[in-house]
Amino acid sequence: MPRSKTNWIVIHCSLSKPSMKVDAKVIDRWHRERGWLKIGYARVIKRDGVIEQGRLDDEYQAHAVEINDESTSVCLVGGLSEDNKNEDNFTGEQWESLHKLLSEWVVKYPDARIVGHYEINPDKTCPNFDVQKYLQSEDIPNYKWSFGTVSETEIEEHKKADEL
Ligand SMILES: [Zn+2]
Repeated sequence: MPRSKTNWIVIHCSLSKPSMKVDAKVIDRWHRERGWLKIGYARVIKRDGVIEQGRLDDEYQAHAVEINDESTSVCLVGGLSEDNKNEDNFTGEQWESLHKLLSEWVVKYPDARIVGHYEINPDKTCPNFDVQKYLQSEDIPNYKWSFGTVSETEIEEHKKADEL
């Protein structure tokens, strides 16, 4: 079923070890085992940087219960160290693909804010890196919520709403 709005672009990780072979097919199996219809994410970025399609970008998502009807999502494969600790261990190819995908999505969904799963659900650490810091250093073209391109008035409004 297609969504009517997209206010959020949410970044996740698969919480798997770098040595583990995980792709959209594997995640699809995990999610079906939880009783879901199919894979919950729109996109999966594999360790080699290849971007796979899960759900359609514009479909209802199943990744963050609070906002499934107003978000799309991407999952980076990795995020767990070989000794089972949360770890920012994504590959150069994955960072490159993430930048490419986000650059496309901010044009397709101009009002959407890019966030990490932990910003929607504070019980999570996923995707195990600081997404806002990443966005500030990355400079995604046309992303209106990056600090450089947001107007002073917008910043003031968000400060008031405690959203910065
Ligand atoms: Zn997540």
